Amino acid sequence: MRVIVPFVDRRLHKRVVPAITAQGHVAWLYRCEPPPDPGSYPGVLRYWLRSGQDFCVVEQDVESLPGALDELADCPEPWCWNAYPLQVPFDETGLHRRHFAMLGHTRFRSSLLPELPGLDTQRWWADWDGRDRLLVLWLNSLGIAPHRHYPDVRHHHRYWVNSVSEES
Ligand SMILES: [Zn+2]
Repeated sequence: MRVIVPFVDRRLHKRVVPAITAQGHVAWLYRCEPPPDPGSYPGVLRYWLRSGQDFCVVEQDVESLPGALDELADCPEPWCWNAYPLQVPFDETGLHRRHFAMLGHTRFRSSLLPELPGLDTQRWWADWDGRDRLLVLWLNSLGIAPHRHYPDVRHHHRYWVNSVSEES
């Protein structure tokens, strides 16, 4: 399982990569350009979703936990993830009742990928939120629900800084 870490300049939290390497995994770092560049976050995701390989996304502000990556790697389910707090704890968002999963600490099996429709919609390239939602809608429409692993991982996102990720 490849562990990919898309990030933009100065937004990669210092605990993200050590939390991956401490588990014996390699962090494949992608410094991202703005969309619609193929080297943008949506471009990198699109590439890996079409790669035919299992992979796990760990976002630039998400700190994995000991054993969490091996659990995702070993689980037979096609779409697995750990939740993390948003502005409130994930379980208080109501999103879990809608089979929603964020992308920040999520493993996709290659077996899913032929099922995914085109990844070149405007929404795919437009906004951060849109990609989570498009993947959720596509996978839910196939009858696939995200398989949540516990415990939740850490999120170093500072919502009070103009909704932009910052180091904390
Ligand atoms: Zn699982």
